Amino acid sequence: MIFKKIIYSLQLNLRKLILFLAIFSVLSLFIISLLVNYYIQKNQLIENSLSVNMEYASKIARGTNSHFKSMLQELDYSAHVLGQAFDNDQIRQAEVNRLKFQSNYFDSLIISDRHGNILSFAPEKLQLNKNVVNTTLGFKMSLTQQKTVVTPPYYSVKNNLIVFLSQPVFDQNRRYLGFIGAAIYLKSDNILNELLTIKYRYKNSYMYVIDSNQRIIFHPDQQLIGKEVKNNTGLATILTEKNGKIRLINSQGIDNLAGFAHIPTTDWIVVSQQPTRDLLAQASSIIVKIIAGMLLFYVFIFFIVWRISFLISNPLAQLAKMASHLNSVETDQKIKQIEPWYYEVLKFKLSLLLSSQQFKEKISELNFYVNTDPLTGFYNRRGMRLFLDEFQKSGTPFAVISIDIDHFKRINDIYGHETGDLVLKNIATTIERNSRDIDACCRIGGEEFIVLSPNSDLNNAYHLAERIRQTIANTKIEDIGTITVSIGIAHWPISDNEISRVFKLADDKLYVAKAEGRNRVKI
Ligand code: GH3
Ligand code: MG
Ligand code: MG
Repeated sequence: MIFKKIIYSLQLNLRKLILFLAIFSVLSLFIISLLVNYYIQKNQLIENSLSVNMEYASKIARGTNSHFKSMLQELDYSAHVLGQAFDNDQIRQAEVNRLKFQSNYFDSLIISDRHGNILSFAPEKLQLNKNVVNTTLGFKMSLTQQKTVVTPPYYSVKNNLIVFLSQPVFDQNRRYLGFIGAAIYLKSDNILNELLTIKYRYKNSYMYVIDSNQRIIFHPDQQLIGKEVKNNTGLATILTEKNGKIRLINSQGIDNLAGFAHIPTTDWIVVSQQPTRDLLAQASSIIVKIIAGMLLFYVFIFFIVWRISFLISNPLAQLAKMASHLNSVETDQKIKQIEPWYYEVLKFKLSLLLSSQQFKEKISELNFYVNTDPLTGFYNRRGMRLFLDEFQKSGTPFAVISIDIDHFKRINDIYGHETGDLVLKNIATTIERNSRDIDACCRIGGEEFIVLSPNSDLNNAYHLAERIRQTIANTKIEDIGTITVSIGIAHWPISDNEISRVFKLADDKLYVAKAEGRNRVKI
């Protein structure tokens, strides 16, 4: 019901329908293409970002790996040197100093004997107590494993968060003497920072490193270094796959696109990631640009559709309007003017023209019955009025010939009404035969006739009237005999300018003819 009401209130027509259709299709195409575009763009961007992050993570992982390899190699070299002279205090000190100062790989260096006693260290400012057995993680791992060690992050005796690298020191007989170890302070500037800090951060992308125990080795947010990664939906995959890409939600609930790669030497994993939202902001801005570009195009299309809809609907709309004015005179002309440039209009136009003609024929048929007398086929008063109006409008002069049957009452009385009717018909026929085609023969009363004779002067009219009178008077009607008529004539505008007075004059003349003995014509 409401739907119907809305439909009616829209006052739909073909043009509006075409326009609605056009708006609907253009708009839906627009929206669909935007959605598809956005979807494709988004997926493409996500895919790209994942790949770029993975690529980046593995590049960094390779770089870091080779650095750590070098570091361990350097320590290993020193371990060999120390194996020859472990008891030489000077050589030990020289080695730790060399490792500390020839590069900036290590923050501090330590040489320990196989019980955990510190023998040498650098830099000096560390001021370590040489007489205390160390039990920190680095020492424990180095002493128990007696091989290359890279520890998870832990707090050193000096309360620095560190990772500890060490190489065992053996003598010529492969006897374990102790180890040489180096600490990297995770929270201060060092080689790790240098390697892992992204200088040119693109769309808020960042990188962090975790170890196999999911502890954070490096993170741009220093607070997090040394902490365990929790509530990260990608962590399990990262730790098992070690190299790859994944979309994840991190501990802060932020959706991220991550690539990750393994550093074999340290068994760490580098994760490079970018918040999805920041990336997709880019897709949105692309879409906005597309909208702007396409909108112009769609407006142009819409304008064309709008014009075409007019061209399509206009002829039909006009024809539809004509259909309700078939009785008007100019309709035919207007219908003919409509250009039928497509099939339906042509069909509609032709059938409308046909109906218009049929309509007119019907009307003129009706007019005929309205304006004529059924007995004689002459115009009745109404019909005569049309002629008078026409003559007056066009200024056509005319004669009024008023004819009345003499003593007609008697005929009715003697022979009956039906015979009277036959006589009326008979007389009408005679009047018609004697008048011209352009003369209007009318029956305006029982046995009174009027002939309107356009473009006749009084003389012409007189001759016409005489002809009628004589023909009637000279014709014998079977069983009745002869009948006569009396005729009065007047002329417009010669007799009078006023048509009603012209009629009165003709009637007066008729009266005179009757008075003078009937069967005569009076002007
Ligand atoms: P006059 O005109 O010569 O003075 O005499 P009249 O007898 O013709 O006079 P009047 O005009 O009084 O009579 C007219 C008669 O015509 C009256 C009526 O009976 C008859 N009449 C009128 N209409 C018809 C008709 O339609 N059919 C027939 N049969 N008679 C008609
Ligand atoms: Mg009469
Ligand atoms: Mg009469």
